[in-house]
Amino acid sequence: SSRSCSKAALQRGRMRLSLQEHLWAFYHERVNISPEEQQAARHAALDICAELRAFIHTKVPDMQLRDMYLSGSLYHDLQVVSADHAQLMVPLILEKSLWSFIPGEETIMNLPGFWLVRRENLEYFPRGCSFWDRCLIGGYLSPKSVLEVFEKLVTGSMNWPAIGSVLGYVVRPAVPSHTEALTLSLEVQYDSERRLHVDFLPLLVSEDGVSLIGKPHRERENLWRQSFWSAETTKLLTLDRDDNGCRCVCLKIAKAVCKLNPALTPLNASHLANAVLLLSESERDWSREALAERFTQLIRALVGHLEAGRLPCALDPKVNLLCELTPREIDELGYTLYCSLSDPESLLRT
Ligand code: GDP
Repeated sequence: SSRSCSKAALQRGRMRLSLQEHLWAFYHERVNISPEEQQAARHAALDICAELRAFIHTKVPDMQLRDMYLSGSLYHDLQVVSADHAQLMVPLILEKSLWSFIPGEETIMNLPGFWLVRRENLEYFPRGCSFWDRCLIGGYLSPKSVLEVFEKLVTGSMNWPAIGSVLGYVVRPAVPSHTEALTLSLEVQYDSERRLHVDFLPLLVSEDGVSLIGKPHRERENLWRQSFWSAETTKLLTLDRDDNGCRCVCLKIAKAVCKLNPALTPLNASHLANAVLLLSESERDWSREALAERFTQLIRALVGHLEAGRLPCALDPKVNLLCELTPREIDELGYTLYCSLSDPESLLRT
């Protein structure tokens, strides 16, 4: 029986080895983006950012903004499949005495991870004292209304055909699909077959260092979303750097699987990055040899989170990252991933 036992172990070893090989092949062939392609996309994004800066600076000099900057997975080699999007961060300046940040759990909605931004002192500093008063809805700063201000500027008053022809690109405001939350984005065709989406992301930073982004809650458009993105990204990169680990490779493979498989698209970078961070708390070995085991564990962990209807944010466990998905979406995601557990390679056949 010890013989059959070792035979089984050998077979398991072979299976693992082959999943391991498949994962690395998939990573090199489908997931990873060449440095040249990343460079070209970053270059186009930078050109667009410069145009927007100059335009806003001359046309709306009183708009209370800090310098806009580019950000996202494209800048940390965490983007997958194709270099097709970047975020343009637009930091608003809010007067300290006129605005306060109210955490979602202290509101009637009881939603950790989302915040209201309330206008204060209206009796002494009436509406109009702050540039951003034009975006008040019911006494609160509305991310939707902030996005609309930019939309008017960017799609209404900038001459993109002319700007594009000078830069050698085709630029057009991208129309969000009706299934998407409100977004503002420019589509930049910078090469006959390459397109880049530059997404506007208004940003607020509180005195206590809480970052909020203007990507409203799916149903409650007045709520600002707390961003853990910088801290999460830094943590992943640091952990990998310290032990020469494969967390980012594992994350990128999972991102590519979700990007290429329509049944899994509701799982986004934040869900996956946090699942990897949570797994990193219990698993120490992230050497390259452990990739297949960690990947399989990641899928199993995701099935568990989906079954529980709860995926805590690794940096603030009271935030449930699944809170915007419908029970039906959660069921379907859980089912698809559960079915893949017996044959994880099936996820790579896209
Ligand atoms: P990817 O877009 O799937 O490759 O993954 P990213 O890591 O670039 O995630 C980008 C998403 O995170 C965007 O949809 C943003 O809305 C959201 N996000 C939240 N906070 C931030 C932030 O501070 N910077 C950026 N770039 N994105 C953020």
